[in-house]
Amino acid sequence: MREGLHKIVPTDDTIIAISTPPGHSGIGIIRISGPGAVPINQRFFKARGPLTELSPRVAVVGKWSDIAGEDIDQVVVTFFRKPSSYTGEDVIEISAHGNPFSMNRIVETVCSAGARVANPGEFTLRAVVHGKLDLLQAEAVREFVDAQTDLQARTALRQLEGSVSKRVEPVKQKLVEIIAHLEAGIDFAEDDVDVPSNASAARDIHSIEGMLDSLQRTFGYGKILAKGLKLVILGKPNVGKSSLFNRLVAADRAIVTEVPGTTRDVLTETISIDGVPVRFADTAGMHETADPVERIGVTRSLETLVDSDFGLVVLDGSSPLDASDWTVLGKASRIPHLIVINKTDLPQSIELDGLNGSRRVPVSAKTGHGFDELQESLRAFVVAQKSDLVDDSILTSARQFDTVTKILQSLGRARESLESQVPHEMVLLDLYDALAATGDLTGEVVTEDILSKIFSTFCIGK
Ligand code: GDP
Repeated sequence: MREGLHKIVPTDDTIIAISTPPGHSGIGIIRISGPGAVPINQRFFKARGPLTELSPRVAVVGKWSDIAGEDIDQVVVTFFRKPSSYTGEDVIEISAHGNPFSMNRIVETVCSAGARVANPGEFTLRAVVHGKLDLLQAEAVREFVDAQTDLQARTALRQLEGSVSKRVEPVKQKLVEIIAHLEAGIDFAEDDVDVPSNASAARDIHSIEGMLDSLQRTFGYGKILAKGLKLVILGKPNVGKSSLFNRLVAADRAIVTEVPGTTRDVLTETISIDGVPVRFADTAGMHETADPVERIGVTRSLETLVDSDFGLVVLDGSSPLDASDWTVLGKASRIPHLIVINKTDLPQSIELDGLNGSRRVPVSAKTGHGFDELQESLRAFVVAQKSDLVDDSILTSARQFDTVTKILQSLGRARESLESQVPHEMVLLDLYDALAATGDLTGEVVTEDILSKIFSTFCIGK
């Protein structure tokens, strides 16, 4: 059990929740975790065959009844004995018919026997408290469940298997070693303990900084992978933005058809490009207008622009550029963008000299000509975001990024102090901060590690 966490997270009660989505379904799964799981099961579950006691990991068919002894549903119960369960506690998993009414009756019955409905993520939190998962893995569970693309799911699965934790572990070990050496130098100064020179300790810290630096850089892509990229389609009215949007979105299976909360002037649709969710926003045409309703649309377009990672500026190839086109191009210069010259099926009269250096792709939203190249350019943009990746372990949450940043800051201060001959007691304060932050990252308690490291590497008794 993780000491620090168990003090702040109570785990002495029994929790229950329906683990499958709401609504009617073939099967619905209800989980009970905690000390009351087995007694509750004994009270309400009647096995069909002769059965005196549940064996762990054996599915048993029977009936679940309510307080009055009336049958609620025919179910299959599986028992996972602690610590060999997801939460690390006794877990009863009930596979019931996926009827929301009967499942809720089971939950109510169990709650009337002393359990309570679990908070969001509480089963996973308990898994962390009982050392079944670290915090990074717990975050990966959530990411896996929320994944919208194959790549998101695969990345989350690797993190669940400990890909990031494995990169943090050597950092922590090295840090503990440096601390142990410096501590020993202070505590046993008169004894014959090898104290590292400031230069070599600073070098060691520098090497950890390098490891963390590369991990920290993965967040650029991790953020994109977690949240997706926002792509905005810009252009004055009638250049073919909606036609382009529809064709782009239709080319790929849309994963979200209508994002809730979007304004009616900005349509959005999310598709997967190379496993990264890309949210397209088709904005109202950007042009000078006196019409108040249109004005709102144009203002929204500008807001969308500022909030986007990437833009597609659509120009009509069949007519010369005008002031509205230049306004759009001017605004778009704030973000990376592609210039899409549409309507190539018509005679061209657009003057391309004087356009900025952004990549240009000629297309026809009417015939589909040029869309392969357009999609390839979009893919190239998405893939370019991966360039910083060292391997598959990617930081995917702001919490992880902030914590790594905190560790790096503490390490930087410690290294500078060593370089300017500040006493080791002071250096240690920063190193302990860094160590505590690595514990924050994975959710561990670290002090015991340090003690055992000191006592195991030095012959203190002499
Ligand atoms: P938006 O106002 O920028 O969203 O433009 P729309 O997509 O509504 O298109 C405006 C008009 O241009 C419509 O009549 C479309 O049919 C037409 N249009 C769009 N793309 C093309 C194209 O590639 N070629 C031709 N010939 N017409 C197009």
